[in-house]
Amino acid sequence: MRYQLRKLVLVFTVLALVSPVLANSVSLAGDEGVSNLRWRNGVVRISISSSVLRESSNIKRDSDVAGAIRRSIEAWSSVANIDLQQSISDKQSVSPSGPAGDGVSLITAAQTPENVLLFSKDPENAAATTRVFYNKRGIITEADIVLNPFIQFSTDGTLGTFDLESTLTHEIGHLLGLPHSPVFGSTMHANYGKNGVFGVQNLSSRTLSADDIAAIRALYGAGPDDDECCGSIEGRLSAGVKQGKTSEIWVEDSNGRVGASTQTTDGEFRFAGLNLGKYRVYAQEIGHARAFVPAREIGDAVVERGGTASISGRPAYAGRDFDLTFVGLNGQLSEMAVSLAPGRTYTIYLGGRNLDPRKLSVSFTTPFLSVVPGTIRSLDYGDDVSVISLEVRISRRASAGDYTIYAETEKGGRRALIGGLMIGNQPNS
Ligand SMILES: [Zn+2]
Repeated sequence: MRYQLRKLVLVFTVLALVSPVLANSVSLAGDEGVSNLRWRNGVVRISISSSVLRESSNIKRDSDVAGAIRRSIEAWSSVANIDLQQSISDKQSVSPSGPAGDGVSLITAAQTPENVLLFSKDPENAAATTRVFYNKRGIITEADIVLNPFIQFSTDGTLGTFDLESTLTHEIGHLLGLPHSPVFGSTMHANYGKNGVFGVQNLSSRTLSADDIAAIRALYGAGPDDDECCGSIEGRLSAGVKQGKTSEIWVEDSNGRVGASTQTTDGEFRFAGLNLGKYRVYAQEIGHARAFVPAREIGDAVVERGGTASISGRPAYAGRDFDLTFVGLNGQLSEMAVSLAPGRTYTIYLGGRNLDPRKLSVSFTTPFLSVVPGTIRSLDYGDDVSVISLEVRISRRASAGDYTIYAETEKGGRRALIGGLMIGNQPNS
């Protein structure tokens, strides 16, 4: 089974930019329908192919490759109860697709036929691919990572290249069993941009967001000295959940920071690995149905150590009068988060369909962000996308985290870009 092969994200811009954002893929070799993949006991041996460490045509000369590998492993092992051991290997190729691999979990950049095959359909669609082998009980037996040999990587933020450490941190999340996250600002979001999108370096996926940390703790438990952790929230969207509709569910803490996210098709959801504290739970239906369930709060929960808070929400339908899909900065729009610094004001761009400044209001659930009144403007980006800009003020006291952008009309349509603004994490200058 192969999923989440998202097509190249469109980037609308007043400048001519060529494919600056890539999706990436994970290929799963095992029975469909098995979920919550994980390694037994959280012990994982990773073999680093010599092809990654020697000079190669697609990693910039003098890059700190060994450091990027070490830090991308430590990002995960420092927040969860996992033991990632690495060694060097002469192996070059990933295990071919099939019921089982060779048992070696390899990170490779070699241009061998087996590796190149993973990118042959669309050489510029994915920065890297991870192939995960698992058994019927969902226990991962092997996971191989291939860096796309057709694109350029670096470790120093060189514009026009992909950040190697960000890419590896994302792929190691897959290697550990994580799927993609709907949170724009998370490391496990399906899209990430090369250095230069929005006119800035893009190193933010090196740092895990609260959403990534909750997800890995939910699989393996917290690290040994973690006093803030953990509790759970579970619940269901009651009556009226339509067959085959997918909803995104997410939680925000008392400062409006996204704490965890998931998707549900049957209405059931569960968050584990949450820091202790108060949360508000939100949901929105995804897809393009005309009558749909807009973004809304479905309840509040207090998470206590070892406890599970229970909530349920009843959906209310609204007519779809607009779509909110893109966020951006410096005249560009994309499906990835924008990084901001505290104490400043930015012009933020939003893109979608039917974004009418006279009917639309934009808001936040955090005290740290505010829209400067009277600054929402309509912009002409052609017929395919509707674009507005607005001034957003960031409080000096704003704490690091991912914050959701909400847009709504009087008719009750409300859409959220979950974690669309990211504060304090490699802020753009
Ligand atoms: Zn991915």
